[in-house]
Amino acid sequence: MRDLLAGVTQFQQETFPQKQSRFQELASGQSPEALFITCSDSRVNPELFTNSEPGEIFVIRNAGNIVGRKGEADLGMAATIEYAIQVLKIPQIIICGHAKCGAMQGLMNPEAVTSLPEVSKWVALSKDALNEEPSDPNADRLTQIIEANIRLQLRNLMTFPEVADAVEANKLRLHGWLYDFETGKVNVLAPETNQFVDSNVRVA
Ligand SMILES: [Zn+2]
Repeated sequence: MRDLLAGVTQFQQETFPQKQSRFQELASGQSPEALFITCSDSRVNPELFTNSEPGEIFVIRNAGNIVGRKGEADLGMAATIEYAIQVLKIPQIIICGHAKCGAMQGLMNPEAVTSLPEVSKWVALSKDALNEEPSDPNADRLTQIIEANIRLQLRNLMTFPEVADAVEANKLRLHGWLYDFETGKVNVLAPETNQFVDSNVRVA
């Protein structure tokens, strides 16, 4: 296994000097452009695939990018959302699911995670995603659930009063993304159709 501390040394010698002025600027404070909620999966690297620099995205990660409703969300999630919106006044929140998500596989096949009581309880917070009518009947079942979970977490965000108020005041926008680490592509949820479309098509 690669020695992570050797990686730290390499970072200090090669990467940090190139970004040193950026880090020094950030010492006076941060003003990230997005709160980015994604999965803990090691194959999902949000700073990498969004080409972000330090200070640009404020990230929350957990298994399955699950927000939960206000009151059922874990304290870390609730506190981080509160800080992001009330203090940092971040103008957009992105819920980013990903292809081949193990947490969503656990939601789809609960019998596969019965020996993991905490995982079982956690992914069950997303059980409503199982009942959603698939927007793409041709997609495989796991992809349908991954997409439904992104929509569900966007709805859950709106149960947080600070989020709902900021959206209402046009100070905050919510986005759903689906990242495929095998292709590097991101599909974004188009609000007008509630379907996921290629981000390149969306931009063009
Ligand atoms: Zn995942």
